[in-house]
Amino acid sequence: MKNRIDELVKILNYHSKRYHEQDSPLITDYEYDMLLKELIELEAKYPMYKSKDSPTQRIGAQPLKEFEKVKHIIPMESLSNAFSYEDLYSFHERIIKEGITPEYVLDKKIDGLSVSLEYKDNIFFRGSTRGDGLYGEDITNNLKTIPYIPLTLKINKIIPYLEVRGEVYMDKQVFKKLNETAAQNGDKEFANPRNAAAGSLRQLDSKITAQRNLKIFIFNLQQIKGMTFNTHTDSLHFLHEAGFITNEIIRVSSDMSEIIKGIEEIQAKRHSFPHDIDGAVIKLNNLADRVSLGSTSKAPRWSIAYKYPPEQKETVIRNIFVQVGRSGVLTPNAEFDPVIVSGSKISRATLHNMDFINSNDIRINDKVLIQKAGDVIPEVIKVLIEKRTGNEKAFVMPKKCPLCNSDVVKMDNKAAYKCTGVSCIGQIARKIEHYCSKDAMDIEGLSTATVDKFLDLRLINTIADIYELKDKKDILVKIDGYGNTSIEKLLSAIEKSKENNIDRLIFGLGIEHIGKKASSLIADNFNDMDDIMSASVEDFVSINTFGDIMSQSIVKYFKNSDVILLIDKLKRHGINMKSLNYGNTVNNTRKLVGKTFVITGSFNEYSREQLKQILISNGGNVTESVSKKTDYVIVGENPGSKLSKAESLGIKIIKIDELKLTLL
Ligand SMILES: [Zn+2]
Repeated sequence: MKNRIDELVKILNYHSKRYHEQDSPLITDYEYDMLLKELIELEAKYPMYKSKDSPTQRIGAQPLKEFEKVKHIIPMESLSNAFSYEDLYSFHERIIKEGITPEYVLDKKIDGLSVSLEYKDNIFFRGSTRGDGLYGEDITNNLKTIPYIPLTLKINKIIPYLEVRGEVYMDKQVFKKLNETAAQNGDKEFANPRNAAAGSLRQLDSKITAQRNLKIFIFNLQQIKGMTFNTHTDSLHFLHEAGFITNEIIRVSSDMSEIIKGIEEIQAKRHSFPHDIDGAVIKLNNLADRVSLGSTSKAPRWSIAYKYPPEQKETVIRNIFVQVGRSGVLTPNAEFDPVIVSGSKISRATLHNMDFINSNDIRINDKVLIQKAGDVIPEVIKVLIEKRTGNEKAFVMPKKCPLCNSDVVKMDNKAAYKCTGVSCIGQIARKIEHYCSKDAMDIEGLSTATVDKFLDLRLINTIADIYELKDKKDILVKIDGYGNTSIEKLLSAIEKSKENNIDRLIFGLGIEHIGKKASSLIADNFNDMDDIMSASVEDFVSINTFGDIMSQSIVKYFKNSDVILLIDKLKRHGINMKSLNYGNTVNNTRKLVGKTFVITGSFNEYSREQLKQILISNGGNVTESVSKKTDYVIVGENPGSKLSKAESLGIKIIKIDELKLTLL
């Protein structure tokens, strides 16, 4: 009997993976359900044979291994921002120009997380995060724990389908208490209420979410079958009747100056609200006007968010200390008495370099004004010189590196100072961090703190060591604050990075003067890493926009024996060393603009993700499913159901060689 159970687990997991990750199911949902049913019955009879990775573990409200993906039928767009009243008047003029007589609705912009809630025949069946706007995560179980979300609609009529959008948030007081408890237990504190709400909502165990006292405001009716509304206010009224907590409408007016009065009203009361807000939202009330205006590639044209100017707070700088960057640059940081700015407690801000300190005359013990740049990054904006007492001390750059005690020197022609140590642990840490960053190898999970910790524990000493972490899983899962799920996620992100196009690798190496764009140009002009490493200064200079300094910097970099060793190690770990966009030039990179592709099956030469990147970098559009809008379906080995769908719709089907010959 154990054999049959193991077999079923294997079969079901295989098909589930094909269905969810590869989007090419081999069996019908019904067949899948029948196998699952057999497994559930057998596991009930023989619980001792139940395996840990049995698909039955996912059923019900038990902790999930990961969130399922949800495709948003209508993308969850973010709003464009206005930072001044002028921006609002230009928004107003753009709408008038389109021949629309606007009526605006004004409401508060709650600082939380947007979610989508879907109802079928009046029953809540699915809730999801925004994700990247096109695909979100299924967090239904977690949302069900929020008492303000009706599980069934409180109306007499049956609505076949309804989708609403809302903002999940945490009240400031709840946030404060949560952090107090965390501090007592020695757990990590959240930076702000939005962060806390996000962390609570993305729990795999919905029981944790249930304890977090989350709330929700519904701000839009997205889709409904069986009913129609003419205005936003009507639809919100209906949602309120149906049992939702809807966003409070502050004002309805056709007059922009009236709307601005409302914005000022909200701002005056801003800090008395139980929840954090980061602005006000203005949208058109007439739903037909919304449809006729549509969206840009980024945001709807019928709505705009007004962002309140950042808060400023006064505090005292108690100390200025230096941080060592990946290139050895020492960055001075101010440490000041903690203040709450824009909803979160801060006690540090970067002072950039000595020039910044000198030109602003920033001294230890100075009283200063602090704000958050872009509402996120703390910065010192002004020294209150009139409040000086004579106890202020000028900051002096240390002569020795605080981490490795090597000499510190001033860089030629720059305001920056640098540690000269060759094996400075501070530099190595920041190099690894840069290698893993989003624009480089994009390894999520290797944050500053994690890199520092792994270096401390001697789990890694160089960039290449990242790829050996998978052999140290036993040690990793035992580190405080990590655990199985986060380590598994990290290891799979590391494995995935091996497939990246070479431009990410080049950028990740952190070669002086070689930024993201230059890295991508190098990938356009060379076939693989060997060609790049053996190229001359002249070869690089021949690339458009490459000057002598950049070209010399690369050639010098690849002559370094440590670098040669590193590249060799990376090669042996299986990191992609080929350029996937070799041959692209500035003029022909957009050859596939306006063409939509769907990929099905597998390919020898590239992974599907790599192929997707090639198409996108040539201006093409890649979607998951075949529709009338698809121009080409690219077919590899073992194609899925997409092939037959393409055939039935008469979409052009091509193989990869054909793609290369005719399109690329
Ligand atoms: Zn150092």
